[in-house]
Amino acid sequence: MARASLVAANWKMNGSRADNDRWLQEFGAAPARCATVVCPPSVYLAQVAQALADTGAQLGAQNVSERSAGAWTGEVSAEMLLDVGVGWVIVGHSERRAAFGETSEAVGAKAERALAVGLRPIVCVGETLEQREQGRTAEVIFAQLAAVLQRCPVQRLATGAIAYEPVWAIGTGRTATPEQAQQVHAAIRAQLAGHDADSAAGLRVLYGGSVKPSNARELFAQPDIDGGLIGGASLVAADFLAICAAAQR
Ligand code: PEP
Repeated sequence: MARASLVAANWKMNGSRADNDRWLQEFGAAPARCATVVCPPSVYLAQVAQALADTGAQLGAQNVSERSAGAWTGEVSAEMLLDVGVGWVIVGHSERRAAFGETSEAVGAKAERALAVGLRPIVCVGETLEQREQGRTAEVIFAQLAAVLQRCPVQRLATGAIAYEPVWAIGTGRTATPEQAQQVHAAIRAQLAGHDADSAAGLRVLYGGSVKPSNARELFAQPDIDGGLIGGASLVAADFLAICAAAQR
């Protein structure tokens, strides 16, 4: 099945009003050549929403609370994200799993909350270098995904995307080879197909981990790689646009 490519920019905790304006101006002047999602820090969502309005790009958040409104200091609910124009949300990024103790169960709950209000989750999964070297890549990813599938039917998850992000490739400059990535992407799709073959065939599986203009085309040429989740390289609008061009099908 032909899946339209998607490229998402994860700015992480970077940016300022002035930096964002510069990026948005550059981005708006040369519309991206594939579907794009821009995920700024939550305090800048409104600023970015306004600037993206005429570009065709969509707005994403980097995290969502698994709880509904109430006395949860510091949390941002799915309803609030929707209210300010967010369409997509990253859940289960490895930085949140490692530095903020997010369990796979919590990631499943976040994806479920996002879907409940109509947000499209980008569910991140990935193994550490140690796990890969122990030959546990498939087992680790299977468990991370199973925790999400337990709460979210694949038919609903298919409105969003899965991002395979090997932890050892994130922000390290070390990219999975296209063959390594394709192998895991195919395994992810096979796991999803075990729940519903049609949904699995239509669901976008993105690759993330040191994607740059120089390696994007080769990665995106793989049959089960449907675009990317881009960290560092997304901070430079020209690089992000070049990566989007490489994803054009
Ligand atoms: C990410 O954090 O989602 C990511 C892929 O980062 P980078 O592109 O910098 O490796």
